[in-house]
Amino acid sequence: TTNGRVALRTQALTKVFRGFRAVDSVDLVVREGGVHALVGPNGAGKTTLFNLLTGFVSPTSGAITVFDEDVTGQQPEQVARRGVARSFQITSLFETLTSREHVELALQGLTRQGFRFWRSEKLLGGNRARVDELLTQVGLMALADRQVGLLAYGQKRALELALVLALDPRVMLLDEPTAGMGIEDVDRTIELVRRIAAGRTVVFVDHNMHVVGSLADRVTVLQQGRILAEGPYEEVRNDERVITAYLGE
Ligand code: ADP
Repeated sequence: TTNGRVALRTQALTKVFRGFRAVDSVDLVVREGGVHALVGPNGAGKTTLFNLLTGFVSPTSGAITVFDEDVTGQQPEQVARRGVARSFQITSLFETLTSREHVELALQGLTRQGFRFWRSEKLLGGNRARVDELLTQVGLMALADRQVGLLAYGQKRALELALVLALDPRVMLLDEPTAGMGIEDVDRTIELVRRIAAGRTVVFVDHNMHVVGSLADRVTVLQQGRILAEGPYEEVRNDERVITAYLGE
């Protein structure tokens, strides 16, 4: 459930790549405690917007705030210190390490992000109980000591979620959490994201409308870098412009 506070806000956010406006004057408001989906056809600017929100790409113009603090142009590490963490779509796991070892590294801020994320005090000195808790949360406790190379695809994606959770972010950005999954893994992931979203703000990108409808309380539709529609799922789903944009894909 959301309260009145705004977790993330962009104002006229724009990113131009060699004359091409990948993100074009985007005004986005993500409320604290909300689960907010970003959808849109390929090339709509979703990944670029994620990269802007986490400092991996700096904007051409416009502004970004995290809990009303200006983070425009800040580096990923600085944005992360404000409590914003993301998952990556491309898997970043080490095949020869176990799930437990990955979570231990994440608790020490040593995963692929390569820098220390903001972490709440309770995580400092990450302990075994916390590792077990994270592995249990994502359903990997029974496989904790198995090499990641031996895990199924859905299990690897679940581990990636555990690594983001290890950072205990206030705002969690998930890049296509169900991409490439079969229906069973999709449903498992919906349940998992629902659980980990409790008490946090979540922004996610997903192409699967069943996932979007199951999880999101608000949906922003991007098309050609601009916001095409924004609102509750039921409303956006029935928007003529959205239907046209998707049929035209
Ligand atoms: P989506 O994630 O919605 O598929 P992207 O944000 O990946 O969209 O891409 C939006 C547009 O910006 C695409 O046309 C893409 O080719 C372009 N783009 C993204 N990153 C770069 C870059 N680093 N350099 C040039 N063009 C880019």
